[in-house]
Amino acid sequence: MTTSSKRGCFFRRTVTALAVFAGLFCQQATAEELAIYAGKLFNSSNGKLLENRTIHIVDGRIESVQKGFAKREREILVDLRNYTVLPGLMDMHSHLTYEFGPRAYTESYTWNPADFTLRGVDAASRTLQAGFTTIRNLGDHDNVTVSLRRAIEAGTIEGPRIYTAGKSIATTGGHADPTNGRRHDLVGNPSPADGVVDGPISARKAIRQRYKDGADLIKITATGGVLSVAKSGQNPQFMQDELEAIVATAKDYGFTVAVHAHGKEGMIRAIRAGVNSIEHGTYMDEEVMDLMRRNNTWFVPTLMAGEWVTEKSAIDGFLPEIVRPKATTMGPLMQETFSKAYKRGVKIAFGTDTGVTRHGENAREFVLMVQGGMTPADAIRSATWNAAQLLQIQDELGSISEGKLADIIAVAGNPLEDISELQRVQFVMKEGKVFKYPSEPAVEVFLEHEGDG
Ligand SMILES: [Zn+2]
Repeated sequence: MTTSSKRGCFFRRTVTALAVFAGLFCQQATAEELAIYAGKLFNSSNGKLLENRTIHIVDGRIESVQKGFAKREREILVDLRNYTVLPGLMDMHSHLTYEFGPRAYTESYTWNPADFTLRGVDAASRTLQAGFTTIRNLGDHDNVTVSLRRAIEAGTIEGPRIYTAGKSIATTGGHADPTNGRRHDLVGNPSPADGVVDGPISARKAIRQRYKDGADLIKITATGGVLSVAKSGQNPQFMQDELEAIVATAKDYGFTVAVHAHGKEGMIRAIRAGVNSIEHGTYMDEEVMDLMRRNNTWFVPTLMAGEWVTEKSAIDGFLPEIVRPKATTMGPLMQETFSKAYKRGVKIAFGTDTGVTRHGENAREFVLMVQGGMTPADAIRSATWNAAQLLQIQDELGSISEGKLADIIAVAGNPLEDISELQRVQFVMKEGKVFKYPSEPAVEVFLEHEGDG
């Protein structure tokens, strides 16, 4: 192929792709209709692949899913016959305003809320482009993710649907105390609004503050953590009466409670108090697993964070010296615990703790889950069907079925044969709006059909 014909070809494709983009955006405004031809379609209710389906979409919702390929006259066609089509992915543990590195510990001195916001804008876009159309943000700075959620809902910026906990809640010196390891006279005494509580009364105040701030759920840190500037990575950090006050107050405001926990005692207390999910769960043993099963508690494993801290703990000077031994011991354990919990039938929802790792690489978690013994189908279900249940939005999302929102992605190969396909998402639609188109061959396929539609 000569350079000029290459250029001509590229031009034609680009112009057509732009026209199609414009068409799809108009489709939102004018309530025109859309059809997706799906060569393979992942049925997240049972983990099986269906073949040759047409998805009809009206006003951002799935109107019906039918056998075969049959586009209606008035519909705009998205031809994904060479692709595997799946529901939009959901990450139950992300931090859009964080991106960890050696400088992360000084950022809170040098960065303004606007800096964290701009990072969040970029992170939100990368998350969506990676196929994640919904996330839970479990801890941020200055309620930045409340504003990001607003801007995404308004269409001002692109990003996933955000369910945010605002600032995490810890006890004094606990994992999410923002003043850990800092000079006292410069940081003052953090309040429940800053996410530090002691006793049931200030715990209630922190929950109500988050309601006032516009949060969607509550995140607490029930035990020590790996990356905080503190000695223990697993000691319990809330008393039973504090946990009960948190859960009871959260219920009044329709909040679920997500719990960061590595150590056993902290997990047991939180599960008994009636929280909804345990994040990380590193020292979870069979007793804890059985308690979770009895209480219907979700497990969000965050294996990527385990892999990352293991890697970084081997590099001199990357992590503070107080953090390093915690990272060396706890990182590798996370994968082991995950395998055991999966075998024992604990309910698992997908979560990455991205913000520790780079935004947009969230799908690496699928690879680690499969390496830990989970079937690819179950791994995908954990990020679709299960995640929707944890968010209590299973009537709206989590599968490609009639009446649900049109959050739809596609990959080129078969993710049940090669789970790493999910690291190369080719097509992203959120509520009927397209944010990413397949690379060239699919655009060609698309062009052919645009002519005869
Ligand atoms: Zn986290």
